[in-house]
Amino acid sequence: MARIIRFLLVLLVLSFIAAWLAEHPGRLTLNWEDYRVETSVAVLVVAVAAISAGVALLYRLWLAMGSVPGRLRRRSVDRRRARGYKALSLGMVAVAAGDAAEAERHARQADVLLGDPALTLLLSAQAAQLRGDEGAAERFFKAMVERPEMSFLGLRGLINQALKRGNKAEALALARRARLLRPDSAWVGNNLFALETDMGRWDDAAATLREEVRHRAVDKIHGDQLAGALAHLQSLDAEARGDTADALRQAERANKLSPGLVPAAAHLARLLAAMGKDRKARATVEKAWSLSPHPDLVEAYLAIGPAKAVLARVTAVEKLAQRRPDHEESRIAVASAALDAELWGEARSRLRPLSDGDPSARVCRLMARLEESEHKDMAGAHSWLSRASVAPPDPAWICSECAMAARSWTARCPHCGAFASQRWQMPPALAPLAAAGPNSLRLGSPGELRP
Ligand SMILES: [Zn+2]
Repeated sequence: MARIIRFLLVLLVLSFIAAWLAEHPGRLTLNWEDYRVETSVAVLVVAVAAISAGVALLYRLWLAMGSVPGRLRRRSVDRRRARGYKALSLGMVAVAAGDAAEAERHARQADVLLGDPALTLLLSAQAAQLRGDEGAAERFFKAMVERPEMSFLGLRGLINQALKRGNKAEALALARRARLLRPDSAWVGNNLFALETDMGRWDDAAATLREEVRHRAVDKIHGDQLAGALAHLQSLDAEARGDTADALRQAERANKLSPGLVPAAAHLARLLAAMGKDRKARATVEKAWSLSPHPDLVEAYLAIGPAKAVLARVTAVEKLAQRRPDHEESRIAVASAALDAELWGEARSRLRPLSDGDPSARVCRLMARLEESEHKDMAGAHSWLSRASVAPPDPAWICSECAMAARSWTARCPHCGAFASQRWQMPPALAPLAAAGPNSLRLGSPGELRP
């Protein structure tokens, strides 16, 4: 609209000028050498305007011709860059497809076309890894570390290589460097924590965990459970080096952070009992039983104070079981103690609610023992033992990460290496049973760290 108005205004001005010139024609005479030109002012004005327009047109043409080589050059660079990015993309696809030769060909092509090693270093490293040339891949990763914008990615590649070689110390040093670059990276945090726990560096792992909780990479509840397990391990170490005061301090911290952690509660009760603090020891086990009843807590409870006769043991277990009277562990604990004391009625009354329906294998075994001991009923006992072989399996320490079942608690899952991941529960159907030694602290294998 504005352009139309402008055009009309120009037209109006021009027509005014033309009309004015027509009214005031005037004469103009030009003498040059032997030439003589006679014309009107109007013609002169038109001639001057035409010459000016011609000169302007020629100037624009000149400028346009001057910029042609630049434009051609730019277009060639653009085309080259597009081909470079295409080669880079195709190389990534080849890496994903596992085609080493294709990946390497595209990496070289992208390197030549883009002329920027920063963009192609990762592809070159991945292509080298794909063809099994770890040395070349390491060179590419190290070159990446030298470039500030690629440094983290290079360190990540080197960490994975060190883990693959099983060089945990090197992986740990590299992970700490990566941590300085990206303190909020969950990947670095996870690997750092896994390496530190794998190497038994409980203090360092506790510091890493605190940072993870601060960055909200680990939620507070899970963080407390992990910190509790770490404090328990620190307590065991302190006890092993004879520092009883530190052992007790760490055990109390572990119990406070994770009161339901059975091995930590049993350990604290043992330390307290050794110092003559029997009441506190019993209270610790009773609290743990109310949160997570477990057979190991029965043993820890009975070990407090002087050795007990079989009847006193039944009384003690009954007191502990009162914390969770209807829990299967409570019934089984009292029934076992009653069987030892030959209190058949007590044992039978505790087992009856569990033996109806689909009793677990250990309930079937206790029933077999009862039938054999009380009535000398060998056929009945045999029948219960047959049921035990097909009954639902007994509870075990089940890894929440990989579902592997273990007989005893371990700091790291013997199968997947996850830290403090075991829960006392019924195994899922067909879960394999890990061959962990009794109460041993086995650590997971290196290189199985979660990304
Ligand atoms: Zn596991």
